[in-house]
Amino acid sequence: METCEKCEAIVPNQRDAPGHEHLISLGDVRSLEEGRRGVTREAFTCAQCGAEWDYRHDKRDPSSGWSRCDAAPQAAEPAANAA
Ligand SMILES: [Zn+2]
Repeated sequence: METCEKCEAIVPNQRDAPGHEHLISLGDVRSLEEGRRGVTREAFTCAQCGAEWDYRHDKRDPSSGWSRCDAAPQAAEPAANAA
């Protein structure tokens, strides 16, 4: 599916970057590892184009913020094996 203009406009990996009004929150996704560091992650899906986004709240990481989770399957994060 084509990414809509509003999703295209989201600046990924930038803390406090704004989302858009068609993003629907799917709730918090929290890993133990991140929980310990005070990091929260919220999953979103776009009602417009179906894009899936994660928003990571990390006070200490200026590159936290939006990331596409349905995009090109780059080796995302090693977090799954962390526990
Ligand atoms: Zn979209």
